[in-house]
Amino acid sequence: MKALVIGGSLGGLFAANLLLDLGWDVEVFEKVGDDLAARGAGIGTHRELVAVLADLGISLSEDLGAAVGDRICVDREGRLVHRAPWAHVMSAWANVYRPLKDRFPAGRYHFAKGLVSFAETPDYVVANFEDGMTATGDLLIGADGLRSTVRMQLFPEAQPRYGGYVAWRGLVEESLLSPAAREKLSDNYWFVLPKGEMALCYLVPRLRMPGQRRVFRSWNWVWYDPTTEAELADLCTDATGRNHGIGIPPPLIRPDVIERVKENARTALAPHIAEVITAGQPFFQSIFDVESPRMAVGRVCLLGDAAFVARPHVGMGVTKGALDAVCLRNSFQQHPADLSSALDRYSSLRTEFGKRVVARARRLGAFVEAVSYPERPWTEEQLDQSPERLLREVAASLSDIPELALEI
Ligand SMILES: Cc1cc2nc3c(=O)[nH]c(=O)nc-3n(C[C@H](O)[C@H](O)[C@H](O)COP(=O)(O)OP(=O)(O)OC[C@H]3O[C@@H](n4cnc5c(N)ncnc54)[C@H](O)[C@@H]3O)c2cc1C
Repeated sequence: MKALVIGGSLGGLFAANLLLDLGWDVEVFEKVGDDLAARGAGIGTHRELVAVLADLGISLSEDLGAAVGDRICVDREGRLVHRAPWAHVMSAWANVYRPLKDRFPAGRYHFAKGLVSFAETPDYVVANFEDGMTATGDLLIGADGLRSTVRMQLFPEAQPRYGGYVAWRGLVEESLLSPAAREKLSDNYWFVLPKGEMALCYLVPRLRMPGQRRVFRSWNWVWYDPTTEAELADLCTDATGRNHGIGIPPPLIRPDVIERVKENARTALAPHIAEVITAGQPFFQSIFDVESPRMAVGRVCLLGDAAFVARPHVGMGVTKGALDAVCLRNSFQQHPADLSSALDRYSSLRTEFGKRVVARARRLGAFVEAVSYPERPWTEEQLDQSPERLLREVAASLSDIPELALEI
């Protein structure tokens, strides 16, 4: 069996490695022209993610660094509001990407191959690329992310839906912070909850970049900020007046916009959190929900963010992609000679998971969304911004979420 994997990020690499181990002929096609490792930041890990990596013979233990300490919510002055034990392990995106990429045969991973369309016959599927090249296989896996070309062709109606806010983000090397801030931050996971907003920051113990020997301790921060569609249009307009749609490359964010974010951080957030935010160059990503009606049609399936995008509050994008890939592998193990039955199994299990995780993430961000859309009928439960709830539920362990305990 031959699989064409569209998208060579984490979801695509999990599927590619697992199917390769099952004896499949696998090729990966990635639109971007070079290694992705330098572009990721911090990720939350789950036991299930570590287990999938272990299944592939990859041990994360050396690169995970120390567990993050308690979760602490403070007010604007830095006074304690709520504290809860946490002891989770945070990692870096590159720590997962690098070994997955290195494990997969380089000659089967093709950079600068953007899919434009695919065509199916009863016996095979053909992928058409931007440069005119084509590839033929038994199965096409769309692991091409939020703006998936594969999903657009399968389900043009399944468009990303804007959540009414953006996540301002940044990654700041610890050595850039003052000794006082470093001491206060220690190794904890910090929250500040101005009304209708959520800011958090946590340590990314180590970053492993290609060719890099140095070990960094960096602070990863995220600030969910209500942003109407009109305000988003302004954020996405560069200094020359050009509008870039619903996102803008970080270097093109206008200096006045960056300055405003830093100024807001100084006035709205605790001083040591504001120092993290103002020490580097903030950028933002707009928050979207994506839901596909199903995960497979004919000889084509979706995987990871191409199928379902849950807001980052669940901290589960990478783990979800990994578990999709495991479920796909398991489905072909159970139905080795029957592509249609394997994909039916995969689609029914993972569509249910996708719907549930998107709903959970939407619930966790509803109080931020409500600021941009006050006219919608919000329930009290959706508007609950209590630190007790958020410190417990944001990025909770998969094993602590009964509604997500589904067969793979
Ligand atoms: C560079 C990068 C950095 C990231 N950093 C973080 C992070 O720090 N923390 C975090 O929690 N999550 C991060 N994510 C998101 C996280 O990896 C995903 O949510 C999760 O792993 C699911 O991944 P995915 O492979 O399904 O989708 P994605 O990671 O979005 O990957 C989709 C891939 O498909 C490629 N692609 C898109 N269109 C086409 C096409 N037409 N043809 C071929 N290829 C195409 C894209 O270039 C991309 O590499 C990052 C994603 C990327 C791409």
